[in-house]
Amino acid sequence: MKAAVFRGVGKPLSIETIPTPKAGPGELVLRVHHCGICGSDLHATQEGTFLVPDGTVLGHEFAGEIVETGAPGWKVGEMVTAVPVYSCVDCAALGECKDGLGILCPRVRIVGLHVDVPGAYAEYVKVSAREAMRLPAQVKTREGATTEPLAVGLHAVRSGKVGIGDRVLVLGAGPIGLAVAIFARICGARNVVVSEYAPARREAAGRLGATAVIDPAREDVGAAFRQHAGAPPDVIFESVGIPGMIQKCVEMAGVHTRVVVVGVCMHEDRFAPMIANFKEISIQFVMGYGRPDWRVVLDLLDSGRVDPRALITDEVSLAQLPAAFEGLRKPSTQIKILVRPGLDSAAG
Ligand SMILES: [Zn+2]
Ligand SMILES: [Zn+2]
Repeated sequence: MKAAVFRGVGKPLSIETIPTPKAGPGELVLRVHHCGICGSDLHATQEGTFLVPDGTVLGHEFAGEIVETGAPGWKVGEMVTAVPVYSCVDCAALGECKDGLGILCPRVRIVGLHVDVPGAYAEYVKVSAREAMRLPAQVKTREGATTEPLAVGLHAVRSGKVGIGDRVLVLGAGPIGLAVAIFARICGARNVVVSEYAPARREAAGRLGATAVIDPAREDVGAAFRQHAGAPPDVIFESVGIPGMIQKCVEMAGVHTRVVVVGVCMHEDRFAPMIANFKEISIQFVMGYGRPDWRVVLDLLDSGRVDPRALITDEVSLAQLPAAFEGLRKPSTQIKILVRPGLDSAAG
């Protein structure tokens, strides 16, 4: 099969022919219909903590059709997505971690981010049936491939305990910030104010449920928020992930504001804790999601209460993927780009 393979820092992904995966016991092989490009994939191909080895096939936000099954209860032709997270099956027995940690398990392997579990920047991907989830009737693979980033947003909103009437500020309108805005509204937030530099992303925020948008290049974010909502935020979501953002959150917070840090900052950062003391701010760092988050996202997609179409700005073939991927290293106005390996064969 054709796959996009990582061949070292500074090189574009390489389209190569590699062996098509085979389903062992408890496994499923999917024909990849759609796979999202994620900021984590960019991190994974740069020098730093998350750099993956030569030979890795990325792609952890996917949906597709079962073409081979090694697990009872699953049928060829069913449309599925899968939680790309393999934690230990029985952590407690190993004595080093606790059961149910999921993505937080110290032994976790993530499909498409570890070299031994190839991802879905490929025509086919193999998944553990234990982590697979059927797409509900109304969810096509195009929307199904957004389940992963949506689940990150839902998990952050749950961690921030957003409730009815809350005033919420979201910093950054990439896929995760936008997912946070969607679920903050669903949880009953009265004000969901999204701050973002890129006009196209601000526009998407408006379509996805933000009650106001702020251009931080032109307005003081804290002042603009108070003007819109009448008070400081109850919850601030940091979904930018660059140094200095936590300090900004602390400054804009009111008394007892909850700050949820969902952006992943790769650098050292500093903030003034005393300001946080004087307002009794809570700062919660979050990572990923759990399986229950995925179930809720799929239910909401099925019922139409979450419509992720404004998140998807582009679709590319596998052959177009390397160029699209490199393009995302510079600031872009795109939100979610989906890879469609099927487009290549359609073109001959
Ligand atoms: Zn992702
Ligand atoms: Zn574990």
